[in-house]
Amino acid sequence: MDMSQEQWARVTAQFATLKERSPFYAKKFADFDLTEIKTMEDFRKLPFTDKGDLRDAYPLGIAAVPPEKIVRIHSSSGTTGTPVIIPYTQKDVDDWATMFARCYEYAGITPEDRVQITPGYGLWTAGIGFQVGCEKLGAMAIPMGPGNTDKQLQMMQDLGSTVLCATSSYALLLAEEIAKRGIGDKVKLRKGVIGSERWGDKMRARIANELGVELYDIYGLTEIYGPGIGINCQADSAMHIWSDFVFVEIVDPKTGEPVPDGEEGEIVLTTLQKEGAPLIRFRTHDLSRFVQGDCPCGHNEHPRIDIITGRTDDMVKVKGVNMFPAQFEEILAFVDGASSEYQIMIDHLNGRDILTFFFETEATGEEKEKVQKQLAAVFKAKLGMTPEAKGVAIGELPRSEKKTKRIFDNRY
Ligand code: ZN
Repeated sequence: MDMSQEQWARVTAQFATLKERSPFYAKKFADFDLTEIKTMEDFRKLPFTDKGDLRDAYPLGIAAVPPEKIVRIHSSSGTTGTPVIIPYTQKDVDDWATMFARCYEYAGITPEDRVQITPGYGLWTAGIGFQVGCEKLGAMAIPMGPGNTDKQLQMMQDLGSTVLCATSSYALLLAEEIAKRGIGDKVKLRKGVIGSERWGDKMRARIANELGVELYDIYGLTEIYGPGIGINCQADSAMHIWSDFVFVEIVDPKTGEPVPDGEEGEIVLTTLQKEGAPLIRFRTHDLSRFVQGDCPCGHNEHPRIDIITGRTDDMVKVKGVNMFPAQFEEILAFVDGASSEYQIMIDHLNGRDILTFFFETEATGEEKEKVQKQLAAVFKAKLGMTPEAKGVAIGELPRSEKKTKRIFDNRY
C-alpha cells in the first residue's frame, strides 16, 4: 500500500530536517539525500531500523530533540541484554493520548464509562497509555495495574467498572475467577480492550462469554508510542491503524520486499509526527496482512490490518516444517473437547525432534484419550507430523498477567 498525499507531506516535512535533528539518522542515512526521496520506490530503498539499532543507541542516542525537550522516557522490556529507551516530548505524549482516546471511541467507549486498567505502569508503556487516553476521552480511569485479583474483583463490583483493559491472559484469569466465585451478576463490564498479543478464537469466545463483553484488539509497541496506534472498530475485527500518525508497510520478513496487498508479512512502521524518537521503517517482527476493501464503519482513511498472527521470532521449525502459534490455535479450534489454553514443548531425544502439545480439557479417562487422538490427527493433517498430544485439567497450564509464554523450544 502506498502513502497517501497527506502522509507524503508529513514525511517530506520530516525528512527536510531529520539529519540535523538526529545524529542517529545522520549516521544511518549517511548515503542518502533525504530531500531527494520523492517516490515510494525511493522510500523503499531506505534501510530498515531494527530493535538492535535502538539498543545500540542506549541510553538516549535515538533522541532527535535537545534533552530539555524530553518530558518522559519509556523502555521496552528487553528479555536479553540492554533495554531500549524511547524519549517522548510533550507533543508525543499529547499525540499518544489523542490516538488512544480515538481507540476508545472506535470501540464505542464514552465519557460515561468506567475503565479498569490492569496493564502495568512504569517503564513499560502499557498502563499509562490506557490511562491518558481514558482521561482525554473523559471516562473514569481506575488505575489498578496488574495483580491482586481479590482487589481487582472488589473494585470492579464496587465501582461498577464497565470496561476492562487487560492482556488476553489476564482477562481470561479474571473471567475464570468471576465464574468460580459466582459473582457474574454483580459485574457490569460491557467491553474488553485487549493488548494485541496473539490469541485464538477459542480463547476470545471464552473471555467474551464468561465476562459478557464485546472484545477489541488494540495495537501498538513501546518503540512507536505504545499501545493505541490502532484498534478494530465496532463493524469488523480488522484493526484500523491511525494514518495521520503512522505509515504501515507489510514486507516479506526474509527479503524485506513488500508483499502483494492482502498477503501476510511483517509489519514495518514509520512515524509521521513523532519528535522525541522518530522511527523510519521500523521492523516490528509482528506478522499480519492488509485487509482490503472498505470498512462498513466508513473510516477508510485509516487502513486496516488483520489481528496479529504471530511474531517472526515465534516461528518454530520442527522436522523441516515451519509452525506458528496461530496454527496451533486453529488446530485447537477444530477439536471438540479441547479448551483454549495450550503449551508446546519441543525436545530433541534419541536423535529426533519431539513436539508435545499440552492442552486443557474437561475430559478425563477414555474420553480424554479420544480428544488426544483427535488432536494428534488434526495436527498431522494440517502440519504433516504427529505430535504427542497430552490433555491436562482446566487451570493447570500457567496464566500470566503479562504475555503468556506458550512455546518452549528445549532443543538448543
Ligand atoms: Zn471500521
